[in-house]
Amino acid sequence: MSKSMVAPHNRREYSLDPIFDANTRAQDDVKRIGKENVVCGTVGSIMDEDENHVFLKSVQDTFLHLEPCEYSRYAPISGTVEFQKAVEEQCFSKSRPEGYIRSAAVCGGTGGLHHLVQIYTEPGDKVLTANWYWGAYKGLCSNQGCTLVTYELLDDNMRFNMASFKKAVLEIANEQKNVVLIINTPAHNPTGYSVAMEEWDAIIAFLKELVSRGENNVILGVDVAYLDYAGNKEEVRKMFKKFENLPPEILTIVIYSLSKGYTFYGQRAGANICISSDKDIAEEFYNAHCFASRATWSNVNRAAMDTLIEINKDKEKQNHYEEERNYYRDLIAERAAIFMEEAKEVGVKALPYMGGFFITLPFKNAKPVCAKLEEEHIYIVPMENGIRIAACSVSKRKMKGLAKTIKRVMDEVGE
Ligand code: PLP
Repeated sequence: MSKSMVAPHNRREYSLDPIFDANTRAQDDVKRIGKENVVCGTVGSIMDEDENHVFLKSVQDTFLHLEPCEYSRYAPISGTVEFQKAVEEQCFSKSRPEGYIRSAAVCGGTGGLHHLVQIYTEPGDKVLTANWYWGAYKGLCSNQGCTLVTYELLDDNMRFNMASFKKAVLEIANEQKNVVLIINTPAHNPTGYSVAMEEWDAIIAFLKELVSRGENNVILGVDVAYLDYAGNKEEVRKMFKKFENLPPEILTIVIYSLSKGYTFYGQRAGANICISSDKDIAEEFYNAHCFASRATWSNVNRAAMDTLIEINKDKEKQNHYEEERNYYRDLIAERAAIFMEEAKEVGVKALPYMGGFFITLPFKNAKPVCAKLEEEHIYIVPMENGIRIAACSVSKRKMKGLAKTIKRVMDEVGE
């Protein structure tokens, strides 16, 4: 390595984030040849059919009409009490689980994941997630001195791979006391997979059996970044009832973000919400989060919190917001349907799309395929084991024919 001043434990190979990197190239291309000639399916934010950034009007109107001092004031470290209430109501809706529930404001879903890993692991620990995962998880772990390890998300029937999950959990449980899991559902990034209710039953039965040995705690991190793009509002939320009345050794932490659900990406707000059958564990969760926040970013954007509070307490605003959001949820699903149908016709293998922002093509040779596609002004994201297409940002017009082009380029490059 060349000269370095960075402390040894922070020295690493730095590489550009492949998503933002591809997006920068796409935007440069847009400047050169115009947006009508570029397909940009990189970043996870919603674009409308004219490919303009969507900031939900209902959220925007509320946000822009706050008292001026709300944009300027500090918020309490844990978030205001009204925000905690609003977050719990928005997140759980009719499926609020029984038990001790505490919430703490965090700096977006990323901030929530940061605290999950920092608070519940020891340096050197492993954190478990599925083999398809949002790339930031890896850095979030290594930055805390942990290692992200994976199980196979899907079995041969394209369902949750229980056998692989169990094996990986047991391996970790035999090595360390706290087993920290990150399950991104519903509408998982990048596959769009949602853990089914009966799959949750099997996961929880297994985790209960594990903690009954008396050797482990399980911290079940449920990353619900795409909760509102996964289907019917109340149906998708039913999973939260699965987390009630669990043994005290299983602590569920829901990582709730305002980024996608409210198109509030840049406002950096969210909350970690714990569900525990033990009052002390819930209290400890809350205190540890307040401490970690104070020692990391201090407090979270107050105007974003107030916007959520306003929407949550006004039925009319809430209805308007949900109508608008559902419109985009359905639009993204229509775009994905166009791609999936054509992919089937031309023989491009895609993982089943169940909802959310992305479509995944499992493919070994992703990098050269994506590089070749960029020569044709198509920007999608290469991953270790496939390609991610952001259906949230590619118009229906441009989705048409995309599978065919990808197939041609895949054939040219070869696996
Ligand atoms: N979790 C997943 C799976 C994501 O894809 C994202 C954003 O892309 C997040 C969490 C966190 O997003 P943010 O930090 O913007 O709230």
